Amino acid sequence: MRTHGSYIKGFWVEGYESRDNVNPSDTNDVIGGFARVDVGALDDAVDAARHALPAWSMTSPQTRANLLEAVAAEILVDVERLGELLAREEGKTLREARGEVTRASQIFRFFSGEALRMRGERQPSTREGVFVNIHREPVGVVGIITPWNFPIAIPAWKSAPALAYGNTVVLKPAELVSGSAHALAEIIDRVGFPPGVFNLVTGAGAVIGDAISSHPGIDAVTFTGSSEVGRKVAMAATARLAKVQLEMGGKNPLIIASDADLDIAVECAVQGAFFSTGQRCTASSRLIIEDSVHDEFVERTLARMATLKVGHALDATVDIGPVVDQRQLDTDLRYLEIARATPGSTVHGGHRVDREHPGFYLTPALIVGALNGDQVSCEEVFGPVASVIKVANYDEAVAVANDTPFGLVSGICTTSLAKAEDYQRRSDTGMVMVNLPTAGVDPHVPFGGRKSSSYGPHEQGTHAQDFFTQGKTAYVRP
Ligand code: NAD
Repeated sequence: MRTHGSYIKGFWVEGYESRDNVNPSDTNDVIGGFARVDVGALDDAVDAARHALPAWSMTSPQTRANLLEAVAAEILVDVERLGELLAREEGKTLREARGEVTRASQIFRFFSGEALRMRGERQPSTREGVFVNIHREPVGVVGIITPWNFPIAIPAWKSAPALAYGNTVVLKPAELVSGSAHALAEIIDRVGFPPGVFNLVTGAGAVIGDAISSHPGIDAVTFTGSSEVGRKVAMAATARLAKVQLEMGGKNPLIIASDADLDIAVECAVQGAFFSTGQRCTASSRLIIEDSVHDEFVERTLARMATLKVGHALDATVDIGPVVDQRQLDTDLRYLEIARATPGSTVHGGHRVDREHPGFYLTPALIVGALNGDQVSCEEVFGPVASVIKVANYDEAVAVANDTPFGLVSGICTTSLAKAEDYQRRSDTGMVMVNLPTAGVDPHVPFGGRKSSSYGPHEQGTHAQDFFTQGKTAYVRP
């Protein structure tokens, strides 16, 4: 079995131990061993990134654009291999995994162009004969901490803008899915980035992630993961006044209005709640249904759920892959037990099932008769589990949708333009979907939430500059 090192200053570095990366569709399939390095190796990576920073930040934007474009091209020619690796380590279906890999390539291509668009402004001063130049400059060494559910797309959407705008990078991926991040580092190495510009440090979150948050050599920390860990990262980073950006959990509502096209509504609900095994921060985990369409919606959703095939992620006929690991499966099952014990709730599906290979298979679960205040409707499960909450009318639906500490994304299915417009204004979330699943976003526009889902500037698109660059105002008397 191959062991994989961390990538520091252009070299592959072994750890003090190696952690097996196991396929959740077949626990007999071990993808490889991945290094666990210590804080000393992180120090080396930060040191390498600091030394590489002055030259990299002063490279021609064309040089950076060319390197990012080369990464995009390399990812794209390797979609099959990278997609299979991703499906094996995370458990999303091969179709979803190929889509994610393609997305990673699109992100590098978009930010390749962005390297050439570092905008500035020039204004006349209020003083005679003086001009003011407002520049954008890199923030410095960026620490990147990523979750397991998008093993290549999230490392890409943080690394690509960081590199495009002239920063150097220390990336720590989630241990469950180090393979895709390692493959990305191999590509970055192959296309010829200068040593130290991009560093991959693999290891335990509580050790390496925590050390990134508090490291004095890291100027900015961008984190995606749970709200609980995000708070710790923010406390450690802000204590030393480092710039910080957090993307965290969600409990995303999808309203089905009384005038919805139910074909669209059922598809949005099923895709948003259950595809990618419900393991998306943007999953529709609260389905808020107006009374007049509730029973028909439930009946049709259950019928559609019965057509979904749960199985091995590499089986082309499968719709929903396994849960990522035993720990997440235990969490899902615990929430389902709570729902079953909640008076008024009926859980449809949510059964542990066996397949040909040993894996963490769970059928999707619809909790009918749920209330917004139920524990399962309040807390992020992060599995194929959705609560159905019946409401009397549209206004109650909006109130229930907003009644959560989270604020990532929301959706509405309606044929009324007035409701679609109204809901865009009243939804207290960073993103709103109309007649679309809550999950599924574009790479060239801002991504991010509100309340306890996000903190700091939004990601992606040209707005990524807000985090990955800092301003400078220069007064010049020629
Ligand atoms: P997690 O918070 O457990 O881990 C995220 C990352 O933080 C991992 O790399 C982990 O190793 C690291 N980490 C763990 N302990 C740490 C510590 N003390 N200090 C610093 N870093 C530490 O999250 P997860 O289980 O990997 O991912 C699932 C979560 O991610 C869900 O809550 C989901 O909603 C969220 N998520 C959010 C978005 C978004 O954009 N809003 C996208 C994807 C996932």
